[in-house]
Order: sequence, then structure tokens, then C-alpha cells
Amino acid sequence: MIPSILPTYARAPLTFVSGEGSWLTEADGRRFLDLGAGIAVNALGHANPALVAALTAQAQALWHVSNLYNIPAQQQLADALVAQTFADTVFFTNSGTEACELAVKMARKYWYDKGQPERTEIITFTGSFHGRSSAGIAAAGSEKMVKGFGPLLPGFTHLEFGDHDALQAAVSDKIAAIMVEPVQGEGGIRPLPDVCLKGLRDLCDQHGILLILDEVQCGMGRTGKLFAHEWAGISPDIMMVAKGIGGGFPLGAVLATENAASGMTAGTHGSTYGGNPLACAVGAKVMEIIGDDAFLAEVNRKAGMMRQKLEGLVAAYPDVFEAVRGSGLMLGLKCKATNSDVVTAGFAQGVLTVPAADNVVRLLPALNITDADIALAVDKLDAAASHVKEANA
Ligand SMILES: *Cc1c(COP(=O)(O)O)cnc(C)c1O
Repeated sequence: MIPSILPTYARAPLTFVSGEGSWLTEADGRRFLDLGAGIAVNALGHANPALVAALTAQAQALWHVSNLYNIPAQQQLADALVAQTFADTVFFTNSGTEACELAVKMARKYWYDKGQPERTEIITFTGSFHGRSSAGIAAAGSEKMVKGFGPLLPGFTHLEFGDHDALQAAVSDKIAAIMVEPVQGEGGIRPLPDVCLKGLRDLCDQHGILLILDEVQCGMGRTGKLFAHEWAGISPDIMMVAKGIGGGFPLGAVLATENAASGMTAGTHGSTYGGNPLACAVGAKVMEIIGDDAFLAEVNRKAGMMRQKLEGLVAAYPDVFEAVRGSGLMLGLKCKATNSDVVTAGFAQGVLTVPAADNVVRLLPALNITDADIALAVDKLDAAASHVKEANA
């Protein structure tokens, strides 16, 4: 008999009932140090008092009115994003994959309105992840995601991640946009080198192509800048955001320049829930905290400390780990052992990590994790690695 919850998830046998900061408490009372943060969502930890206060105040005032009316919290968050990024304008969604939907629509509408309606093709890369909607799976195009779900949304050219020659060859006057994650998350914490991101920007400028960055996972302070592309000193035309921006409340956004957004006039797009008062009240508070330079400086300091400890771990367990990779507090342990064995061994030590493709264990702690919790987390990973090593001996 089919379970009452559609069986699309392979869940670990853990049931968390409460959380505080970087810690989660299981129904049986065990405490776990959370280095997954709800897959880079709980950017400010669990039950953050400032976020609880923002949500509670909004909940007592007004939950939902729809986008038929003005929403002050939405305006506040949009203004903050515009003030602190490349963007001139923002549309709010409830998730990352909805942001992907709009990014695709926006790029195509741009060229339609410019009198080039045949310019619809979007270049994407292997190992990418853009969510599970029809556009999201067609964009990423991996067999695992698309098999059985055809016919797929047409108009995506999939290139090998890092193949510069293929990219040059693929450029034509049919290309509307290039869509890429500055740091691939699900793909196994694979950063696109800054020179490549700069190269992509130059290529787009030469050919008038729109650059769409998917910062759903790597954005909102995760890499130590507010958005990951800032490290390369470039800016996109369109950017997808979600995960960390709601701090645990479902919220996403598409940010764009005035030019890139020029086709999106009244009535061309919409969402019932997108930019809801509850989500935006939390998002505005998240943005106020993460958008602060002193906060981001702390993320960088902690990231340096964590990376150094992880390098030590890799050196101590060469049979289990191969390398540390990533950027800021978006870190991956490339494994020699099976990544899911490391994750499972972590459960027994009371530490939560997340597997990713390419045999990587992802570490995506809350951005405000304490120094003491970083040290404890690496101790727990050390104990987990020791068990994996013994089991494989
Ligand atoms: C998680 C993710 C998405 C999809 O976000 P959802 O909120 O799950 O729809 C898209 N792109 C990237 C890079 C992601 O990590």
C-alpha cells in the first residue's frame, strides 16, 4: 500500500521536535549538531529570536492579502535587495524552482520584446540543479531528474561544466541566456572559478546574451559575500535566490536589472503566495542581519577556521576523504569512502551533514554557528570518519 506521504523521499530515521541555534533535539531527547541547516535554509540557525519576533509580530497583525494590494514588508525587502545588489527590481516567489521558472520566462520575453522571438535557447551545465519544476528539470537535464517526465520543456543546451571550447562553439544568435550556479550545490560543491565567471560575463557582453545566476544555494551570505558572484567582481542580469533568504520560512526571489526585466510588464507574471507578508517580514529581518558587513566578516573568519580544521581531518583520514572544497560556509568533503556512509556514521555521533553528487558530503552550517560548535562538529566528524575507516578496513 502506498504510504500516506507520497514516497518520493528517502528519509533518515530521525524526527526532530525542536531546535536552537545550530542544535536540533530528536523526539527521544538526543541532541544533534546541525551542519545541514535544512539544506542551507536555516542561515541564522533554528528558532533565531530576531526571526521569531519578526514572524510573530507579522502573524499577529496580518497573514495574507494577495498581490492585489500593497504589502509593506515586501516593499521593504525589495528595497533592501535593490540597495545592496546589482538589481533594479525584484519579484518574490515561494521557492527556488519558481525563481527558475521566472528567470526563464523573463529571458525569453526580453528577446521577444526586442524583436528576436526566435532567440529562446538557454545554455546550462552538467551537474547543475535548478529545482524540480518542468523548467527546472529541463534546465538541469540530468537523466536522474528528467527520465519518464517527457516531453520536456524545449530550449536548453546542456554543456559540460568547464568545457570552454564547447561553450564558444555553442554561442549563436539563438542563445537568449546562460544559466549557471557560481557554486554548484547538489552537484557536489563545485565552485566555478572566478576567472570562468568573468569569462562568462565577457562572453555574454560580446554577444548580448543575458547572464542568469542561480544563487539559490550559494547566495545570502553562504560564501562570505552577500552573493557569491561578488567574489568575481561581476554582476548578472538576472539572479535566482531562495533557501537562506527566508531563514526557514518559504521564500524565493528573482532579482534583475531594469533592462533584463523590461519585458515583464503588468499581467505577464504573478503568484498568489509569492511575497506574502509573513515570508517577507522574516526575509526583511534576515536581509538586515546578513546584509551587514560585520556579519559577513564573521562568516569569512569562521569559514577559514572551519576549512583549516577540515583540512586536518582530510589529512588524518586519507582512506575516507580526498579533499575539502567549496567557498565560505558552503563546504564539501570529497570522499574516498561512500559519502552516505560518512553521513550515516555522523548520525551516530550526533552530527548532521548532507550528501551531494560526485561522492561529496556537504557542510552548510548556520552562518552564525559559534566557534565552539565548529570545533565540536569537526570532532564529531573525526569520530564518524574513524568508524567509517574501521568498517572499511
Ligand atoms: C535548492 C535549489 C533549487 C530549488 O529550490 P527549491 O526551493 O527546492 O525549489 C534551485 N537551484 C539551486 C542551486 C538549489 O540549490
